[in-house]
Amino acid sequence: MGSGSRYLTILVVFLSICWVVIIGLVIVIFQAVESPGAGGLTSTAFLLIVAVFIALAGVVAASSLYLRSRIFGRVAFASPEFDRLAERMGSLTYLDPDTRKRYYKIDRMKGAASYKRRVYFGARLFESLTEGERLALAAHEFSHLRNRDGRYRYWRITAPIELILLASVGLAFYQGSQAVWLALLLSFPLWGYALRAALMLSHAKALKAQELRCDQEAVKYTKAQDLLEGLKKSRAFMTPRELRSWGFKIASRTYPSDEERYQAIIKAGLIASGELGSGSIPG
Ligand SMILES: [Zn+2]
Repeated sequence: MGSGSRYLTILVVFLSICWVVIIGLVIVIFQAVESPGAGGLTSTAFLLIVAVFIALAGVVAASSLYLRSRIFGRVAFASPEFDRLAERMGSLTYLDPDTRKRYYKIDRMKGAASYKRRVYFGARLFESLTEGERLALAAHEFSHLRNRDGRYRYWRITAPIELILLASVGLAFYQGSQAVWLALLLSFPLWGYALRAALMLSHAKALKAQELRCDQEAVKYTKAQDLLEGLKKSRAFMTPRELRSWGFKIASRTYPSDEERYQAIIKAGLIASGELGSGSIPG
């Protein structure tokens, strides 16, 4: 993780804290509006809180825009080669109808990914790949798109639970248990992450199978060697520190191991090239 990434992490943490403070201020303002005067806030304090709220909201909005521009620093490009491959794989209808909005190079990404009819490559990875390796990684993503592998949006599945939890925060607040609502509110972002992580881990087996299936399909349409090299290059872009991170550890529980993937690709490649019959695979 370079210093740029560390800077972004600090920004994300800062925004999360601002977010919690803003919600706290909203609650305080509501409370003051409901019971002005006796026991409530003086009008000067009230105005001060509103001013802080507006200033903070401005900082958050500006930082979010900046963050967005850094993370989503992206270049869209058209590729007739990718389109032809997608057509052969029956995936073309799952891509954006606008040919100029199908493929992207993203500055801060390390690997390749697909999301909502679009395929994304880490910009540095993309430049380091050969033409064949790009096609092989794209084939893997086309398989994801055609099989609608991204249909489980974990935040959407967990949203009802999160709303119930948030409602319980409100209830605790109105019942006057300040310590409880504050604890619940501050831990709110954690519940979201925990719920999503739990959901992903509970789907680990299916998610692993998805990856292996997409590799197998990519090998049918492109060269196994290219997929292998492309995957190894994308892994090489991850720093030892990123490989040790908790996020990566959780994500890697839902992925087959590199070794398992590589072996399966080599095997599929040998079968595809006719060096092995599908029934005779040596250990
Ligand atoms: Zn995949």
